[in-house]
Amino acid sequence: MSFLTSVERSIERASTLLALGPAAQQLVAAPKNVIEVTFPVRLDSGETEVFTGWRIQHNDALGPYKGGIRFAPQVDREEVQALATTMSIKNAAHGLPYGGAKGGVRIDPLKYSTRELEMVARRYVDAIFKMIGPEVDVPAPDVNTNPMLMGWMMDEYSRLAGRTVPNSFTGKPLVLGGTSLREEATGYGGYVILREALADSGFDKAPADTTVAIQGFGNVGATLAKIMSEEGFRVVAVSDSKGGIYDEGGLDIEEIIRAQEQAGTIEKNRCYPKALTNGVAREVDCTTVTNRELLELPVDILVPAAIESVITKENSAKVQAPVILEMANGALDEHAESELLARNVSIVPDVIANGGGVATSYLEWVENRQGKRWHEHEVKAMLDELMKTAYRETKQRSDKHTTSLRTGAYTVALDRITSAMVARGWLGSTSR
Ligand code: NAD
Repeated sequence: MSFLTSVERSIERASTLLALGPAAQQLVAAPKNVIEVTFPVRLDSGETEVFTGWRIQHNDALGPYKGGIRFAPQVDREEVQALATTMSIKNAAHGLPYGGAKGGVRIDPLKYSTRELEMVARRYVDAIFKMIGPEVDVPAPDVNTNPMLMGWMMDEYSRLAGRTVPNSFTGKPLVLGGTSLREEATGYGGYVILREALADSGFDKAPADTTVAIQGFGNVGATLAKIMSEEGFRVVAVSDSKGGIYDEGGLDIEEIIRAQEQAGTIEKNRCYPKALTNGVAREVDCTTVTNRELLELPVDILVPAAIESVITKENSAKVQAPVILEMANGALDEHAESELLARNVSIVPDVIANGGGVATSYLEWVENRQGKRWHEHEVKAMLDELMKTAYRETKQRSDKHTTSLRTGAYTVALDRITSAMVARGWLGSTSR
């Protein structure tokens, strides 16, 4: 089942629970604006290449659209639409004053120079300029985009606007009004939610006895691996797009991050044993795993933190972890989730688990609007509160309807979105 279909089914389920009328259902099921752009970029070779990009704005009843921009070779309209829809749900479920949107450019960034990537970023902003802005639609980083790109995009937006507009983009470099926590915010937020979910589910193992496998070792996966390892959890497997490594005694995450910074990838022929006795490395059998094998390891907590649709009906029966923290958007499809829930697997869904990034973006946007700066500990405290509240409200709703956390989160979000649509008069009466 495609990511978009799974998202649409989640919307339908929550719409039924809320007894939404047909107009409300139609408005939350479909995006408000679908913008597809093609634009030329002069390459270093002197040739011109034409790129395709999207900005899909799903719903803005609660406030300006908000959502990241990804640069990826396979990105298409359907994927961006699914992501834009989940942004509306995520933002509303976290109580943020935003609607939802997402952007994408079809490009393999590894094949281009830094100058070429800057030009792609600038031409993409030129193409969507009239549809975005600090009170309209505020983009941020996502897969393969980072603070450097956000800095160029904010500069391009400001150039076209004729004035500096810091709050047109979030996830910017610190010197341009970014926040120091933004890069680690999604991984950190996921950890906050995980602790809440573990406490709720009566999970009683000590961190040192709790094994964790993480698929994806980028911004989200590596940050979460580092935090969990620092908090004493036994991270036994990690992977990147080329595969992973597994040691049931636990991996030395700091060492892997250092090695990855040098080699650009996790070195699969090396072991990174966690425990050192008198400075001597433990004897271990270094095991490499494929990305598929990693998902099927006998661990306590499984964290897909790479790409969508990795746990489907093809492999869900082989997943052994009793707890899944869905950090990658759309990592589980609907079939997989039903099968896993029937086996009492606890699933913390993407729209709650990975909201730390956009919640911190919101705090950056507020800082920029007010021309102020909070200390990192203040941002962290506000982020903690936003994440814990989102989790509590989701849990209460899922308990009330005896349903999954995903349906609980979608129900909280659609309740807020449709209430805003009623208040704005979009539905023509006081009922939805
Ligand atoms: P990233 O580009 O920094 O890292 C992605 C990681 O996944 C890399 O280690 C990469 O090698 C690996 N990967 C890529 N293709 C893979 C494949 N086919 N199989 C296994 N691993 C693969 O991206 P990120 O920012 O860490 O985002 C990861 C996920 O989290 C995405 O689904 C993204 O939408 C979601 N997310 C990210 C943020 C954020 O703030 N960065 C916020 C919300 C959601």
